[in-house]
Parts: sequence; C-alpha cells; structure tokens
Amino acid sequence: MGYGCCGTIMSCSTAPITNRNQVTFFPESVINSQAASAYAAFKKKAKLSEDKETLKLIEDIGSKMKIAISTYFSSKKLNDPTKDYNWEYILVDDDKTLNAWCMPGGKIAVYTGILKVTKNVNGLANVMGHEIAHAVAKHSVERASASLALNVGTTVADIFLGGAIGRTRNTVGRTTGVDILQVGIFNPFTRTQETEADYLGLAFCSMTGYDLYEGIELWKRMKEFNKGKEPPQFLSTHPSSENRISQIRSWIPTIRKNFPKIDNI
Ligand SMILES: [Zn+2]
Repeated sequence: MGYGCCGTIMSCSTAPITNRNQVTFFPESVINSQAASAYAAFKKKAKLSEDKETLKLIEDIGSKMKIAISTYFSSKKLNDPTKDYNWEYILVDDDKTLNAWCMPGGKIAVYTGILKVTKNVNGLANVMGHEIAHAVAKHSVERASASLALNVGTTVADIFLGGAIGRTRNTVGRTTGVDILQVGIFNPFTRTQETEADYLGLAFCSMTGYDLYEGIELWKRMKEFNKGKEPPQFLSTHPSSENRISQIRSWIPTIRKNFPKIDNI
C-alpha cells in the first residue's frame, strides 16, 4: 500500500511481461487465500468427472506450464508471480457448460463441455494458458480493486490502511451488496485484460512447447459453437472481439521468438 503512486492512496503494480500499469489495492495474498476457500467450497459442491485420463492431461499441461513460467521468470532475474501459488486442478462433469477458469493462486477448473471445443492437447493447453494468464496478470485483483473503487471509493481505502481486510469485506458486503470475491473472480474481464491474457497465454504455451496455431483453430471452433442454441459460457465471460483471431495470428512469430520453448519440460 503506497501513497502517491497513481496520484491516490491506491497501490499500483504492473502486469508481468506486458508491464501494463495496474491499480491493485488488495494484497494479492488476501485474494489468493479467499480464492482458495472459494475453490474448496466449489469442489465440494461441483460434480467432479470420473474421467481420470483427462484430469491427468489437465494436470500434466498445468504442471508443465507451471515449471515453464517459473523458469522463465528466474532466467530473466524477475520476480516469479506464481511463487506463492498452490496449483490445483479439477475436471467438472458438466457437458453443457463450455467453460474453464483459473482462480487467483492457480486454482483451475475445466468443464467437460469445453472439451468439445478444445478437441486435442494443444487446444486444451491454449485454453489453460489463457486462463492461467488471467491469474498471473492479477486480473481478479484488479477487478476487485476496480469494483471497490467504483462502489465505495476512498472510505474503503481508509479502512484498508488499518489493515482490517476481513472486516472490510464484511463492511463492503453489508453496505453495497458487493462481494469482493464474486466481483473479482467471476465477472467478465475487460477487453484489455482479455487481450493481455491472449498474449500471455500464447507466451506460456510457447515456453511450454505447445502449438500456438491451435489457439487460432480453437477460437474458430468457439465461434462456430456460438452460432448454436446454447452459446458457450466461455464467450460470455470472455467477450471476443472480431479481430481476436487475426491479432493472435499476427503475434505468433514474435512470441515464438521471444518465448522459445524451455528445455527439459
Ligand atoms: Zn479470458
């Protein structure tokens, strides 16, 4: 928490790799621990798939990406944004829901419905890379901070300066009906955040050695599903722009050059 940065009492940080400035007045550790509780509750409630083979694949992609990300940041002598992550993976048995997400701190869920669109290992890796990117770039912290700023303004910041995070959460909930966890994690991300997650997700896939062009095919398949009766939930939380595919295509050569596959993964 610092004074003066961004001209307010809010604290600022930058997103890893893209170095975009962010206003984040929640400590990431607080968001991560709240996300861990929410994830535990979700796991209890959700119907988990019996498909051990696909879960194993998800864990395999995730653990390779985890190593690649940490290796990348340490090779650049940069702070590893995932160093306090406690990675976890679940496959939700729900063929009707085409969705996947990664909560802050590396808590991942893939719904069986999205497997119709991911189709193969590289497709799944591109979805997971994108979701992990939202977490690594602290988009939920940013969203939670923005919601608080919008809804309650500086009075909350004052309370935060006293360090009473839990009390603040209750206060915020009582006075505004806003649950910081809800707004931080499950609201759609902004277009800027989506673009950043596309870019970082491709970088993570590239470091890990997955096929980036499958990312293009994936978005094409997603668009096809969108024409059906039940548009993918993934698209409601990931508003897509018309030029998303062409943008991804134009980034690929540079990303492969700047984020080459890391050895021994
Ligand atoms: Zn997204």
